[in-house]
Amino acid sequence: MSTAFKMSPLTTGSVVQKREESGRLQAKIAQYERQMEENKHFTVVMGEPCTIQVELDPGQYVLHCLICNTKCHFPCEHGDTSDAKRNCPVMYNGYCCVCPETCHWAKHYSSRYCMETGTKKVTRTREDMKKAYFGALQEKLTAEESLNRLQKEVENTH
Ligand SMILES: [Zn+2]
Ligand SMILES: [Zn+2]
Ligand SMILES: [Zn+2]
Repeated sequence: MSTAFKMSPLTTGSVVQKREESGRLQAKIAQYERQMEENKHFTVVMGEPCTIQVELDPGQYVLHCLICNTKCHFPCEHGDTSDAKRNCPVMYNGYCCVCPETCHWAKHYSSRYCMETGTKKVTRTREDMKKAYFGALQEKLTAEESLNRLQKEVENTH
């Protein structure tokens, strides 16, 4: 009884249904492929601003104010000694005319480095896109499996 049931040929209706189902699966696969295409750039290399310490040419300094946190003189040819700072052209009667607070020369320091803005490369992963990509991939594989099975079943009925 059960053998007879298994051996019974497929009806025309079920082949048609399987063809329809195959068509639906193919459309789904195409849709998943589009989703994968849209989300495939889930890792991006971007330039991010950063500060780089640049060593100045010999004999060059940047004169900073410790109070105002400003760059008062650049390039400054006066080194980091009391006399040198006092004699820097931005000082007038011992006080800085560049600082917003016109600070005393002693509140200044000279550095051999200046900070410049540069760009560093960073890799960013867009988690939402990554999830969408792998989700679509998984769905696509499942749909492809079902499609293969259906197509084999349809072929076997001929
Ligand atoms: Zn100052
Ligand atoms: Zn100077
Ligand atoms: Zn100053």
